[in-house]
Amino acid sequence: MPDDTAFDPLTEPLLSGDRRALARAITLVESTRPEDRARAAALLQSVADPGRRTLRIGLSGTPGVGKSTFIEAFGTMLTGAGHRLAVLAVDPSSTRSGGSILGDKTRMDRLARDPNAFIRPSPSQTELGGVARRTREAIALVEAAGHDIVLVETVGVGQSETLVSRMTDLFVLLLAPAGGDELQGVKRGIMEAADIVLVNKADGDLATQARRTCADYAGALRLMRKRPGDAPDFPCAMTVSAVTGMGIDAAWNAMQALARHRRESGLWDRTRADQNRHWFEEAVRQGLMARLTADPALAARMDDLGARVARAELPATAAAMVLLDDLASGP
Ligand code: GDP
Repeated sequence: MPDDTAFDPLTEPLLSGDRRALARAITLVESTRPEDRARAAALLQSVADPGRRTLRIGLSGTPGVGKSTFIEAFGTMLTGAGHRLAVLAVDPSSTRSGGSILGDKTRMDRLARDPNAFIRPSPSQTELGGVARRTREAIALVEAAGHDIVLVETVGVGQSETLVSRMTDLFVLLLAPAGGDELQGVKRGIMEAADIVLVNKADGDLATQARRTCADYAGALRLMRKRPGDAPDFPCAMTVSAVTGMGIDAAWNAMQALARHRRESGLWDRTRADQNRHWFEEAVRQGLMARLTADPALAARMDDLGARVARAELPATAAAMVLLDDLASGP
């Protein structure tokens, strides 16, 4: 790193929890301009602290299950208990301008005005790889700014859950009471990622249905493969009501119990270590692709080889080796 980037003017205000500095730092990591990328990398390095103790929670659920309402209730409970919360969103599918994830702040009115909460909507970009990097870096920044709990919200449509579960310590799936016996078409991958399934709207007329849905999911979760060494009572299913607040405390207790077990068993550290390595390798992969496409000769070579692979004239692996040899021999 060049010396002049070691003292980025954002570093100090960011570390002291200045919200405007934090917002600007996130905008910086969201940028794809090469000069911003270099500055962002240096900034992230200057605020890194491996001793920082934080909890990263992934929260997923299809639109309408009550994510915003839940985050408002859960979030204000957390800040009321002295925590500093950050809420980030991952919505790779969203190119909508209105109504996008976290766009509806009216259901997070109190949290949005809470000095101990920081809410950042999803940047509008469709490419999943870019969203992953920016979310991960935003997590590092909000933690550097003193937020000890980070909630990463995503719409329950599939691809983004795997990604979010790779950058969080525990994963919560929010569901609505189901009619009949269908398991709401929840994709298996999402169920497998879930540590805690919360059946929301367990109030009024929906309470009975919610309890039935919860029992169905508890049954389904018992059949899932557990992570080796994980807490015995997880994954689990519980009912909550984001509107009345019922079960929110219990859900938080369950999250803390799971976090404690993972910390004490060493699974926590191993998981974070694996995640860090995964994202490092991912960055290398993306960097290699970026270099290939930035060089006109290599990009043309890749097009040509790609076309030959498509016509089945060349096997994919052999073509990749040719291209990587070209990259290694360099300009
Ligand atoms: P999101 O799209 O997942 O963020 O869902 P919202 O938080 O916007 O909620 C969708 C609808 O469900 C709204 O009309 C909420 O008022 C309603 N809702 C959310 N939580 C509850 C709950 O616990 N009980 C009931 N009865 N309705 C809820």
